[in-house]
This record gives sequence, structure tokens and C-alpha cells, in this order.
Amino acid sequence: MDVEVSNEQVVYTSDFPQHLCNMCGKCCKAITTPYTYEELVELAAQGQEEAKVFVEIFERYSSIDEAKAAVPDHVENILNQLRKNNPDLDESKVTFYHCPHLTPDNKCSIHSTRPDCCRRAPRNGWSLFPPNCGFKGWQFQQRERVKASVRKLKEYLLELELLEPHTVLSGRNMTASEMKALIKSKIKPWEKYGANFW
Ligand code: SF4
Ligand code: SF4
Repeated sequence: MDVEVSNEQVVYTSDFPQHLCNMCGKCCKAITTPYTYEELVELAAQGQEEAKVFVEIFERYSSIDEAKAAVPDHVENILNQLRKNNPDLDESKVTFYHCPHLTPDNKCSIHSTRPDCCRRAPRNGWSLFPPNCGFKGWQFQQRERVKASVRKLKEYLLELELLEPHTVLSGRNMTASEMKALIKSKIKPWEKYGANFW
């Protein structure tokens, strides 16, 4: 069994190809979160970092239509995905935001101090970005990498099934049962993207 179970297998590299951005500015012009604005304010008050960023940095569109007028394809894309995830979606609870720090020529006026969520965007291969985003190919590559890693972990799980649960794995100071739990925890975050079927 020669499988390394490490974060590197399922987490993207820090080598982030910023140059792929074509500076269309769309991702800064329409942003949403799974929370209502009121929930975000509450979370921000509790000190949740991402919520604080949303409340402090981004500005709310007054309606979905206003957001659609600014970036129609991106907003429609996001709404379609939300509807797919939740057929009972209450669109009146969806709030779109835009960033006041985007310059008219689509540059970030606070680039050196921009928040973490902007530094990491697109966070992974499944992040919803506009149809013409320069990261499309990169996102495809990231998805395939994660799928390959998860498949490898699943193969390892199958091999571990052949061992008694309390067997101590050579060189790991860990039993087969503990290793199985660890592997499952590595796979878990990807289940929402379909990892059960890879
Ligand atoms: S949508 Fe993609 S290409 Fe456009 S600004 Fe954002 S990251 Fe860059
Ligand atoms: S802070 Fe900069 S990168 Fe982040 S949304 Fe605003 S303009 Fe875009």
C-alpha cells in the first residue's frame, strides 16, 4: 500500500496562476453567499471573518435585477446553480453584492490589502465564476486533480478493508481503522461536489 495520505493530495497548491485572470471584473461585480444579509450581519457581530468582509467591504445590490443588469451571465449562472442545489430556493433571500474598490478599468484599488477571499478566488475547481473567466481551464484541471486524488484514496480504503481494524500500519503508528477514518475525513469535503460517484 503506497499511498500518501496528506493534505497535498486533496488541497490545491499555493502556486496560484494569477496571470490567468483576464480582468473582466465580473467576479467583483456580483458576489453572493449562502447567508441572508441579516444572517451575515449577525455572523459578523460574532466575529466570523468572511462575514465581516462581506459586511465591511462589499455593497449590496438593491435587488437581483440590479445585479443582473450589471453582470447578466454571471448572476444567471449563480442563480441556476443555487436553484439546482435547492429546488425550493427562495430568491427573495438571495442577496448579491458588488465591490466598491473595483476601478472603472476593472482593477482592484486595494490589491495589496484585498481580503483573503479575493486572494484565494477562484477557491477551487467548483467555484462559480463567469462563463468567460480566464480560470475556466485551470478549474477543469483542478477538478480532475481532486477526482484523481479521491479515487486513489478510495483504492486505499479498499485495501484497508482487507486488514483487521486493529492492525497497526507499518511506519505510520496508526491502526487500519484509524487510517480509514482519516481517509474518509479527507474525502468528506468533496462529497458535496459528487465524490461519492467518482
Ligand atoms: S471573472 Fe475570472 S477573469 Fe474575470 S476578473 Fe474574475 S477571476 Fe479574472
Ligand atoms: S477587493 Fe479587489 S479583488 Fe476583491 S472584490 Fe474588490 S476589487 Fe475585486
